[in-house]
Amino acid sequence: MAMQDNTLKPGPARRSEAKPETPFYLKREPAQWPRDAFFYMLADGGGSRPEAVVYRCRNHPWFESSVPVPVPPGLALHRASLKAHWPLVPYRLTELALGFFVRIARMYNAESFLLLCYDRRKSRYHLICPVQRVTYSSVKYEVPDLPPEFMLVGDIHSHPGDDAGASIIDQWDERSRAMVHIIWAFPRHHPPHVEVDAVIDGHRFPVAADLILERGYRRLRLCVPTTWIDRVHKETYRQHHDPEETQTFPDKGGSNNGCQSTGRPWTAPGS
Ligand SMILES: [Zn+2]
Repeated sequence: MAMQDNTLKPGPARRSEAKPETPFYLKREPAQWPRDAFFYMLADGGGSRPEAVVYRCRNHPWFESSVPVPVPPGLALHRASLKAHWPLVPYRLTELALGFFVRIARMYNAESFLLLCYDRRKSRYHLICPVQRVTYSSVKYEVPDLPPEFMLVGDIHSHPGDDAGASIIDQWDERSRAMVHIIWAFPRHHPPHVEVDAVIDGHRFPVAADLILERGYRRLRLCVPTTWIDRVHKETYRQHHDPEETQTFPDKGGSNNGCQSTGRPWTAPGS
């Protein structure tokens, strides 16, 4: 067994508690046992759930020992944290996304979905509409090939007539994608409202909307690209969940010309 570099060290002790620094090792393969008389070691605890465990270890004249301990002394408190440095999404893109969601909700009474990309070369956001199959409560889509300068940073989808809280399906989908997730809800007779979360390394951070969305959006931009509308295919629940049923997409019906409508006025949250 092997102990490697003591890359983790005790946090700064208060002056009155200053002691000789205790070595802190990470146990990695191939493992070696350090010769220090006393040290701490972080290792895989080997339980049914993967969990790192800290051991207090000794090289005593009569024995070698390692005993799990909850918290080694001298460690500073730390909790999961996120400091965002991302630029704000321009309000015009929010208006366009909302216009698209409303168009699809009116046509199909269904959710719809957009990808949020950042063009590293031009330093600006883009909305991408993937081909998607939608129902009232879920969306299936494939991420298209993106230009190399496009960084996929998030997604935006709608909950027609529902609240903006992430559903169990949303949370399951988000576990595999380290991104910002924006959900707009369109309850009847009320302005839309939004919920934003960032999922990093499987951890979900609630994010205040005005930390990612530029303020100032007030109207729906219903003249969305026709290609966006054409990429949305309404499915029944059975078609959505049975692969055998998804060979053909149903007719969209209706008209894609939603530009005539201005939509109801609404007030954006926080504006
Ligand atoms: Zn959802």
